[in-house]
Amino acid sequence: MKKRILYLYSDTGGGHRSAATALMRAVDHLRKDMFEQEMIDVFAACSGFLNMFAKLYGPVIQYSPQMWGQLYYWLDDEKKLEALEKMSRPFILKELTALIQGKMPDVIVSVHPMINRLTVRAIKQSGKKTPFVIVITDPVTLHRAWIAPGADFVVVGTHEAKELALKYGMPEEKIKIVGMPIDPKFFLEDKDKEKARKMDKLDPKLFTVLLMGGGEGAGKLYDIIEEMEEQKIKAQLIVIAGRNKSLERKIKRNKNKFSFPLRVYGFTDQVHEIMAESDLIITKAGPGTIAEALAMNLPIIITSWLPGQEEGNVEFVVRENIGRVSKDPKKVVEIVKELRETTEFEELKKNIARVSRPQAAVDIAHEIFRCL
Ligand code: UDP
Repeated sequence: MKKRILYLYSDTGGGHRSAATALMRAVDHLRKDMFEQEMIDVFAACSGFLNMFAKLYGPVIQYSPQMWGQLYYWLDDEKKLEALEKMSRPFILKELTALIQGKMPDVIVSVHPMINRLTVRAIKQSGKKTPFVIVITDPVTLHRAWIAPGADFVVVGTHEAKELALKYGMPEEKIKIVGMPIDPKFFLEDKDKEKARKMDKLDPKLFTVLLMGGGEGAGKLYDIIEEMEEQKIKAQLIVIAGRNKSLERKIKRNKNKFSFPLRVYGFTDQVHEIMAESDLIITKAGPGTIAEALAMNLPIIITSWLPGQEEGNVEFVVRENIGRVSKDPKKVVEIVKELRETTEFEELKKNIARVSRPQAAVDIAHEIFRCL
């Protein structure tokens, strides 16, 4: 009988789903058809009530990132997290335990911070000794909610993240520094930009800018597009609006106002192909997007970030000199122009090659195999 791997995630943003998918593909890449793998959106599957809160993530980070920051820091407290876990139990624990008993996985892998303590408890209640692995998808700034010392081990992306995991109570021997899991399709993708652009009916020779804001299409993306027009940018622009339908509609409605070639996508599963066509990315500091952009050798301009949660990613971009940071749309477009005209662009690319870990998902898959 095939061994079963169960991935627990929640569709808050796009990063957690992407990480789980990346791990499934990496497992398949290494040992095709040897495992039964399944992804479970835990709150959607186990608790309609808690899922209502999970669904607030998109609107909150779009309209009030400050509020998200306040919640992030308010919850940075062991006692509050314990109280939250206790309060959540009546709404999810029974269902999560039943899910584990029903699915009978050989290993459980979580890629979400808010379910780990509950999962340790549910495994105990299920009467099984299922190994439990946490793969942390915030590679630098790590919230303490991620850490459940009862898990078998956690995978982190950087030394900073390891230090935080230790501080939050994870025993050192249970922490592995591997990297941020990204889909193998990113490292398998052909990196010939001109060819990719030609195949996708874009101008093969024209500098290509990708603009995106995580799974939710967050940030002042439209202002940046308007500023590109204002500054008469000589480039073609691809926008991934993600789940931000109103942004997608607005761009489509106003497309004729812009003199440069502009293409817009809603939520797409072609991010790897679109990155392969692009020369540079303008984005919020989402860990998934940054890791993918690095794998595709794209210099990054960070224009927004979630307080607390993504601040470490911004520092990482600056410290490693793999991109630039500005919240001001005017300055962002000036940076694009500047980068094109100086040798800095090539320098950024060299630094990217140094810090990129495109194969992290494959390395994590090897770690998961050790539990089986
Ligand atoms: N993503 C995607 N399709 C889209 C927009 C985003 O697959 O249309 C993916 C993107 O490739 C990345 C993830 O969603 O893997 C976004 O994760 P990130 O950590 O950057 O930000 P989040 O959305 O979790 O805040």
